[in-house]
Amino acid sequence: MSLWLSAIGASRGVAIGPVHRMHGTDLDIPEYHLDDPAIETEIARFQQAAHEARAQLAAVREQIPSNAPAEIGAFIETHLLMMDDTALIDTVTARIREDRINAEWALKLQSEELIDVFEQMNDGYLRTRRDDIAHVTARLQRVLLNQEHPIGTGTADQNSDPPVIVADELTPADIILLHQQGIAAIVTEHGGPLSHSAILARSLRLPALMGATGVRRLLVDEEIVVIDGEAGHLLAAPDAAALDFYHHRQQRDARYQRMLAVLRDEPAVSADGVHIAMLANVELPDDSIEAGRVGAEGVGLYRTEFLFMNRKDTPSEEEQLAVYRQVLASTDGPVTIRTLDAGADKSIGLSDKVAPNPALGLRAIRLCLKETGLFRSQLRALLRASAEGRMRIMLPMISTVGEMRQARHLINEAAAELAAEGLAYDRDLPIGAMIEVPAAALAAPTLARYCDFFSLGTNDLIQYTLAIDRIDDEINYLYDPLHPAVLTLIRMTIDAGQAAGISVSMCGEMASDKRYTALLLGLGLTEFSMHPASVLEVKRAVMGADVARLRRRVAEILSLTDAATYREALDGLTREQQI
Ligand code: PEP
Ligand code: MG
Repeated sequence: MSLWLSAIGASRGVAIGPVHRMHGTDLDIPEYHLDDPAIETEIARFQQAAHEARAQLAAVREQIPSNAPAEIGAFIETHLLMMDDTALIDTVTARIREDRINAEWALKLQSEELIDVFEQMNDGYLRTRRDDIAHVTARLQRVLLNQEHPIGTGTADQNSDPPVIVADELTPADIILLHQQGIAAIVTEHGGPLSHSAILARSLRLPALMGATGVRRLLVDEEIVVIDGEAGHLLAAPDAAALDFYHHRQQRDARYQRMLAVLRDEPAVSADGVHIAMLANVELPDDSIEAGRVGAEGVGLYRTEFLFMNRKDTPSEEEQLAVYRQVLASTDGPVTIRTLDAGADKSIGLSDKVAPNPALGLRAIRLCLKETGLFRSQLRALLRASAEGRMRIMLPMISTVGEMRQARHLINEAAAELAAEGLAYDRDLPIGAMIEVPAAALAAPTLARYCDFFSLGTNDLIQYTLAIDRIDDEINYLYDPLHPAVLTLIRMTIDAGQAAGISVSMCGEMASDKRYTALLLGLGLTEFSMHPASVLEVKRAVMGADVARLRRRVAEILSLTDAATYREALDGLTREQQI
């Protein structure tokens, strides 16, 4: 009999394949005591397992796909650093010796102790570090228990269909290894759409369901399942009619991708003749190659903080200059480079002090205006690079006019230094603000007088407007781009930009979701910046849109005060964009 299951659709696409259940982090850990002579052998076994787990992670690091978001590399680096941490490896060794217990049990006790410490911390970000400890210890446990190759020997049978991996939880590192062995999809009991694993699955175009509680109990190995990553459905034991239906869906999806590829060189002009700029978000310089492949017209957001992560020092002016030049050289179009947005969940290790509320603390422009030495070298590198292309500087998390003025003052100072040194820079370099704090959106008409452009950072704008921490799993469900407060702030920003004659783009995730394209066009947005993988489908939505009609329709919808009618009307608008 067929079985339907609903979960969170974390990565789109239809997959059909046999189930392969695997252990993620919840393993059966044996416990036994050792005789004296066995202790040193056990320690050697543990050290060997640590060595092997480290080698696995290093191999994964080498194999990260070039279009994977930079967070994935950072995530694996964190795990590698943990593997070298004495708090884990040396302490487990000491436990084996002192308590005369087997390595798996000693590791379990030690990781529970560390996880307890993190859980007691009054800080959302640090609390999420407990997951890193759970992942690292699970990897080590799997090596110790000989379960490290989740689908056989790692050379999957060439003749069998790629499996659908069903696990309690999978790390990005697991997903990279599994992807190389050839899998059809992933289904996990835990995790959500904003997790690193979900981001990676989307970059790899691997259908994924998350939050499928109890799924491993309900399925058996080798039974055939269908995964619909868009609807968030799993269908077990499908009958012939269902299989036929989903095979057609797969063929239709493949045709859709081929059809999108044809749009690469088409201008992004709506059905009623409005040109819309299609720009790319770039995290690693390699992403700009992918951006060129999909015909992005330039870079709307280059996140420079990834240059500063996972290192003990900060990148020098010369090192930064080389990278900024590389990004500028990758496109003929404009390149918007965002100054360092560190702090909150993007630590660059400047301080050991834990802010009571990191997302509301010393982050982004606030940090740069305090650490002016760090900011100055970035500004000098940016200004020097600006002599060689069409660059714009964008300041993150602006909330006051004062911050804008202070930043401009520092930019002018750096420019004067370069002029005195005889170094070239673009004297008309546009300086803009990210609008990602409600205060900035509300004060946009005033702020516009100090800015050459605005860019809407909806990831943070939604976080701060709805008071929901972006990285807290528990309140993910409140993350709602269609909330009337969010749409009002977006509209205010676009209107203020238009009134002041400055451009307004959007570089938050909302811009890359084709379900919102009609709505954003109706709000008056004319510049979209998104992950390269989304450029073509958003362009397609633009090409089919009647912007004048959408503007009238969206104005009507935003004036509705009945919550149910408002939702219904917005859903109607977004449904028009479904394939
Ligand atoms: C945003 O907040 O929408 C944004 C683009 O910046 P980040 O996701 O890097 O905070
Ligand atoms: Mg942001």
